[in-house]
Amino acid sequence: MSAKLIDGQRVAELIRAEVREDVEAWVEDGHRPPFLKVVQVGSDPGSTSYIGAKTRACAEVGIGSETLRLPDTISADELVRAIRRLNADDGVDGILVQLPLPSHLSSHHVIESIDYRKDVDGFHPMNVGRLALDQPTFRSCTPAGIFELFRHYSIPVKSRHAVVVGASNIVGSPMAIMLSRENSTGKATTTICHKFTKDLTRHTIDADILVVAAGQPNLIKAEMVKEGVVVIDVGINRVADETRERGYRITGDCDFESVREKASWITPVPGGVGPMTVAMLMKNTLLAAKKSIYPAEIST
Ligand code: NDP
Repeated sequence: MSAKLIDGQRVAELIRAEVREDVEAWVEDGHRPPFLKVVQVGSDPGSTSYIGAKTRACAEVGIGSETLRLPDTISADELVRAIRRLNADDGVDGILVQLPLPSHLSSHHVIESIDYRKDVDGFHPMNVGRLALDQPTFRSCTPAGIFELFRHYSIPVKSRHAVVVGASNIVGSPMAIMLSRENSTGKATTTICHKFTKDLTRHTIDADILVVAAGQPNLIKAEMVKEGVVVIDVGINRVADETRERGYRITGDCDFESVREKASWITPVPGGVGPMTVAMLMKNTLLAAKKSIYPAEIST
C-alpha cells in the first residue's frame, strides 16, 4: 500500500476562501473588519517567518493585522502591561503572542494575561479548560486544523484508537483532548505518549490514527506502525542538507518514504499540517470579532 496524501495546502486554501467570504459578509453587514494584533518579543528569524505567514493570510482573507515588536530585554511587567492595553482596545479582536518567548519570561504568565475572549491561539487556561469540558472555545489552531483535514477527507475518528506522540500545551495535549473528548468530532480511544513513555512502538504499532508532534526527525519508522494507519505528521524540523542552497531542508517527525508504504493516509511536511494552523487562526480571529464563543452575556 502507498498512502494517499493529505493536501493541507489545498484544504487551507479552501478554508481561507470560506473565511474571506464570511469576512466580506460581516463587513457588508456594517461591521469593521476583524483585527489581529501579533506580539513579537525579540527578533528570532523563525518567529519572524511564522508571523509573516500569519499576517499574509490575514491580508488575503480581509482581516486587519499589525505586529507589535518589543525588545527581548522587556520585563515581564512591561510585557503584561502592553498586553493589557490590547485587552482594553475595542479595535483589537484577537491577540497572539508569538512563542517561544525569551527565557526570562514565563509563557504561562504572559498567556494568562491575555483576555481569554481575544485568545485566538486557544492557549489561555480558560479556553483549554473549556476544551477539556467539551464546551465552545477557541480551539488551539494546529489540532483544530487536523480535525478539518479529517473532515475534508472523511477520515473517521470515532471509536478508533488514536495515538498522539508529544504532549505539549500547544499541540499534543489539546490534540489528545479533542480526540478523546469532543462529542461532535472526537470520541476516539486515545493514548498520549511523551519522552517518558516506555517502548513507544508498543503504542504506535496499535494506532489507527497516529499524530506525531515531538519535534524529532525520523522518530517514527515503518516498523513502528501498522498497515492502513492514518499518519498526521506535525513536526517541523530543520535537517542539514548540503544539496540545498540554504543548507538545510524541512522534515517532519516521520520517516516519510518508508511510513507512507504502510499508511492509508499521510500528511507531507511541508504542505500538510502547517498551512492548516494558519487557516484556523483566521477562523478563530473571525469568531473573536463576531463574539461567537463568548457572547456579552456570558463574559465577565
Ligand atoms: P515541544 O518541544 O513543546 O513538545 C514536544 C513533545 O514531544 C513533548 O511532550 C515531549 O515529551 C515529546 N517528545 C519529545 N521527544 C520524544 C520522544 N523521543 N518520544 C516521545 N515523545 C517525545 O514541541 P511542540 O509541541 O511545540 O512542537 C512539536 C513539533 O511540532 C515541532 O517540530 C514543532 O516545530 C512542530 N509544530 C508544528 C506546527 C504546525 O503547524 N505544523 C505547529 C506547532 C508545532 P515531554 O512532554 O516528556 O517533554
